[in-house]
Amino acid sequence: METALVKKIFDVDQVRKDFPILSREVNGKPLVYFDNAATSQKPLSVINALDNYYKTCNSNIHRGVYLISAEASEAYDKAKDKVKEFIGAKDSSEIIFTRGTTEAINLAAYSYGRQSVTEGDEVIISTMEHHSNIVPWQVLCDEKKAKLKIIPITDSGEIIMDEYKKMLNEKVKLVSICHISNSIGTINPVKEIIKLAHEKNIPILVDGAQAVHHTKVDVQSLDADFYAFSAHKMYGPMGIGVLYGKAELLEQMPPYQTGGDMISSVSFEKTDYNEIPMKFEAGTPNVEGAIGLTEAIDYINSIGRDQIHEHEKEILEYATEEIEQIESVKIIGTARNKTGSLSFIVEGLSALDIGIMLDTFGVAVRTGHHCTEPLMRRFKIPGTVRASFAMYNTKEEIDVFTSALRKSINILK
Ligand code: PLP
Repeated sequence: METALVKKIFDVDQVRKDFPILSREVNGKPLVYFDNAATSQKPLSVINALDNYYKTCNSNIHRGVYLISAEASEAYDKAKDKVKEFIGAKDSSEIIFTRGTTEAINLAAYSYGRQSVTEGDEVIISTMEHHSNIVPWQVLCDEKKAKLKIIPITDSGEIIMDEYKKMLNEKVKLVSICHISNSIGTINPVKEIIKLAHEKNIPILVDGAQAVHHTKVDVQSLDADFYAFSAHKMYGPMGIGVLYGKAELLEQMPPYQTGGDMISSVSFEKTDYNEIPMKFEAGTPNVEGAIGLTEAIDYINSIGRDQIHEHEKEILEYATEEIEQIESVKIIGTARNKTGSLSFIVEGLSALDIGIMLDTFGVAVRTGHHCTEPLMRRFKIPGTVRASFAMYNTKEEIDVFTSALRKSINILK
């Protein structure tokens, strides 16, 4: 648990020691890992927890009558309690484990969406959504002959709230919006966005893939109806994520997939479904993932989300100031409230060439559309170079990056 009263001291050098990969070299240079929005690196505690699970209690969970199955089941169930505390849910039955954010949103679109959306209805998303928060709604709307409505954004990459307000009407059955943009780092005013939707009795899903590890999230205080995120972006393992849903909504929703574990009894005539959240978890779950996620949450809590947020803010500000001084660089996404990602283009050069060149200096960035093609189209560009930061990044790494960027531009021009 994070203690609000004790101000923790953030020591980035100490934090870096917990991440073994950060001490490796690439292309003869120390690795500067700036692709954290794609996936974060893992601390030793997470790596050891996975190792320990397979060494000590690997077994299938629930219904095992022997000790190691009981241990694995307990670890899996405790992971739900851990997530519940981490995001401020009311009950751990509101925590569904999925493969990640993508599957979480698909679950909501498939189960809640297909039940609630009919011909002529509307679903609202924004211009800055990840493809994972576009395509499931597009497919749903196509199938139901409903309309997908898109909230426009400003040139700086902020939601135009007046336009959003105008879009809310009785035909809208759901709003689905990212908390923080993976491409341009905008922190959306989700509390206000949710409040406005609720004034019209419209439920809302928040895609928190880029948020839970950068800032404190409390789903009850936000009053989010659904909240989705992935463990691998928050220092945990790949292959596990979360869909939080308010119990009263989950209770009403049909299963997403069917098979073992999501049932309470089966006959050839009829199947009764399990209680929430098991109703939505068909088949053998990702037990190692749940254990790794528990450890990742413990790790984040041991550092403190406020401390992480402050440190990352400093890193983003410093990186912004430094690259603004490089002629021909244009930052894409200049929202007032930002974190995590810094996207830019260099006049006359392709993002891909810059990314490849930066790699020769040991700097790992991502280039392209970042799974937000409509957002790139909004800015009339094919893609950007994106440097995205985590708690272990330093100002010294920003210096390496900006120096490598200058050299890359000189070589390529
Ligand atoms: N939503 C956002 C905002 C993301 O940044 C990502 C991944 O980059 C996703 C959804 C999809 O996450 P995953 O690939 O872990 O399912």
